[in-house]
Amino acid sequence: MYIMGTLLRHGSEAQKQKYLPQIATGALRLQAFGVTEPTTGSDTTQLKTRAVRDGDSYVVNGQKIWTSRALQSDMMLLLARTTAADQVQKRTQGLSVFLVDLREVKGKGCEIRPIPTMVNHNTNEVFFDNMRIPADSLIGEEGRGFKYILDGMNAERVLVASEAIGDGKYFTEKSVAYANDRAVFGRPIGQNQAIQHPIARAYGELQAAEMMVRQAAALFDAGRECGEAANLAKLLASESAWNAAEACMQTHGGFSFARDFQIERKWRECRLFQIAPISSNMILNFVTRNILGLPRSY
Ligand SMILES: Cc1cc2nc3c(=O)[nH]c(=O)nc-3n(C[C@H](O)[C@H](O)[C@H](O)COP(=O)(O)OP(=O)(O)OC[C@H]3O[C@@H](n4cnc5c(N)ncnc54)[C@H](O)[C@@H]3O)c2cc1C
Repeated sequence: MYIMGTLLRHGSEAQKQKYLPQIATGALRLQAFGVTEPTTGSDTTQLKTRAVRDGDSYVVNGQKIWTSRALQSDMMLLLARTTAADQVQKRTQGLSVFLVDLREVKGKGCEIRPIPTMVNHNTNEVFFDNMRIPADSLIGEEGRGFKYILDGMNAERVLVASEAIGDGKYFTEKSVAYANDRAVFGRPIGQNQAIQHPIARAYGELQAAEMMVRQAAALFDAGRECGEAANLAKLLASESAWNAAEACMQTHGGFSFARDFQIERKWRECRLFQIAPISSNMILNFVTRNILGLPRSY
């Protein structure tokens, strides 16, 4: 949903008519978001994938990494450089966003290789070797792609933050149930403050984070500037969910390692939110520089 928001907001009428009804009915399967690259990581505007106009096509060369769902998706939103970095005034310029029909290009200049990971989440390396896509795959104006996907990234942050809040609630409920139930030394472990307090603290953090998530979502829905709220929501939600996960592991003692208890899987998955889709450090960098007006540290 956050991916196709870019098409909704910046696509042409013809693109919207072609794709959005099919996405709404489910005729077009999942969508992938091809932004991150192996050699540039968080430094998105340095990405190296190039798309060069050639008649009625663009020819794409380069590589993406961590492109989630690319194997199962029909479409991929791709961010690529269309004007060389040394020919633009700002690094955010000269990047363009394309809607690529993966069904058309797989095996024809586009190769997808899954990355085995510690979580139940399909994610891939995607290689482009003279991949030819129709010129009308371009969304909006050439060179303005970075600006177009920023809105989508804010939506993604709100979505991921909501997911983290859900995980946090799951951990808290499991912690409370087990702390009440498990008796050691002749009394429930939940009677010990060392067990109670981390659960209570994480609960409080989650409540506060959820308010920030709702504020970010409301601003986004109202079409208002939401960068600060979306980033803070993601920061606070991912950290409070992780604290709830840690409290849950500790509360369950050795049993947290048993798969049947359904904690270790979520614990692993929950850790991801502090790294993707944007790491906590990069959010703090955004806050220090863009909100607080401190000097850029990098
Ligand atoms: C499971 C999974 C799914 C993903 N799905 C997608 C997807 O669908 N599409 C997509 O485009 N990407 C996706 N990503 C990529 C994700 O967005 C990146 O992993 C994330 O943005 C961090 O980039 P990186 O891994 O290259 O880390 P790097 O940029 O190499 O950073 C490594 C560490 O250094 C820190 N660091 C770097 N620079 C600074 C600095 N200046 N100040 C302070 N700290 C710094 C970072 O915070 C991080 O902790 C996914 C990643 C994972 C793991």
